Amino acid sequence: MAKDRVISHLSCEKCRMRNYTQVVTRQRKLGDLKLSKYCSRCREHTLHKETK
Ligand SMILES: [Zn+2]
Repeated sequence: MAKDRVISHLSCEKCRMRNYTQVVTRQRKLGDLKLSKYCSRCREHTLHKETK
């Protein structure tokens, strides 16, 4: 069973578009992760924050 796994989204901090999804284990706290990723809407690398 994949009960301990949840899907989290990485959303751009500028336009709030959810550009990336990832599967994480439930044990890890959500919201701590901030990554520099490419946003297709901003057309640049922006800071992406983890959301549900
Ligand atoms: Zn963006």
